[in-house]
Amino acid sequence: MPMLQKTIKKTTSVKGITLHSGKIAAIELIPASVGTGIVFIRNDKHIRASWNNVVDTSMATTLGEGDKRIATVEHLLSAISGLGISNLFIRVNGPEIPIMDGSAASFIYMISETGVRSQGVPRKTIKIKNKVEVKEDGKWAAFVPSDSKRITYAISFNHPKIGFQKLSLKFDRQRYIKEISRARTFGFLRDMEYLKANNLALGGSLDNAIVLDDYRIMNEDGLRYPDEFVRHKMLDAVGDISLAGVDIIGHYIAYKSGHTLNNRLLRKLFSTEKSWEWVSAPEEKVERIDEAVEAI
Ligand SMILES: [Zn+2]
Repeated sequence: MPMLQKTIKKTTSVKGITLHSGKIAAIELIPASVGTGIVFIRNDKHIRASWNNVVDTSMATTLGEGDKRIATVEHLLSAISGLGISNLFIRVNGPEIPIMDGSAASFIYMISETGVRSQGVPRKTIKIKNKVEVKEDGKWAAFVPSDSKRITYAISFNHPKIGFQKLSLKFDRQRYIKEISRARTFGFLRDMEYLKANNLALGGSLDNAIVLDDYRIMNEDGLRYPDEFVRHKMLDAVGDISLAGVDIIGHYIAYKSGHTLNNRLLRKLFSTEKSWEWVSAPEEKVERIDEAVEAI
């Protein structure tokens, strides 16, 4: 059986504080029919989750069409993509998605509780044929040909608690849930003070981010994974790359990438015809997502 398009079984909703505006926002996830894709709805206007609707990548990934904007979409999109959902409406009542605990875990629980439904039609899938790469200031991101979905990420921070971290994973739903979904966003205390003075990260706290001073991790409970930092960058990349709107068979490799480079990579991929081809959806491994969710 090829990988089939999926949506959720029933509408579900959640609300929480937003990272940058610090306001409470509510989101509602609504099942959508085959071929819909992931579509945000704000004030009855639709904004498709697509790489060509990305209008800002400076602090988070922001989507926009006309004068409507929705910021900090990457963790929610990461959970949706990680669970293999291809069709969904996301109604939001404000300009930013709630940050929850700074990871994708809350969205995973929310979706697994309502349930995932196969829709009988294969997923749209492309395969990388030739390497595509973008670089900027010693950072880079690339897609290279591979017979499966793979993700490799490395970061290097001049901080005693981070340093150099690298992780490479074959990508599937269970690995995503177990190895990536719980990794929280992180920030440095000195940046937080600057950001808050500039009306950014107003909702940021130890409840939704790992915060580091010059030497230590300030969260009392420490880390969820010893290399939580690189895992969160992977979580972000899964969300950013899902804006391709299709499944990508290939190896995503990045060094110190971020929202800006991830979006440039997709723009380059889709403007380089020889770099990819349409293929039929690969075989689906039978996976029990409820078991994987219980294990986290
Ligand atoms: Zn993030």
